[in-house]
Amino acid sequence: MSYQGSCHCGRTRYEVQGEVGTVIECNCSHCSRKGYLLWFVPRQALQLKTPDSELSTYLFNKHVIEHRFCPTCGCAPFGLGTDPQGNATAAINVRCLEGIDLAKLKRVAYDGRSK
Ligand SMILES: [Zn+2]
Repeated sequence: MSYQGSCHCGRTRYEVQGEVGTVIECNCSHCSRKGYLLWFVPRQALQLKTPDSELSTYLFNKHVIEHRFCPTCGCAPFGLGTDPQGNATAAINVRCLEGIDLAKLKRVAYDGRSK
């Protein structure tokens, strides 16, 4: 299965391979403000159709996750980082994917606020 993703204005486009299972809804100061619903995939499952240099990056806390966002419309379609084993990982904001019924996804709460 592959999913097409984009920001609102269409400047940022990408494709993700895999099956969306559960998504993470984190309550930290950043995720709650942006409303992220995150699906974690290996970095190679994410294929950018827009040059990475076209996107802006937001870093905070320990600067371990690069939160990419569109400099035109402000949408934050994914972030890049590494998992605890050191593997390159992408956190996909499923709100930016086409053909996803958000109401049908199983959401798992993550207490990032307390970490
Ligand atoms: Zn945009």
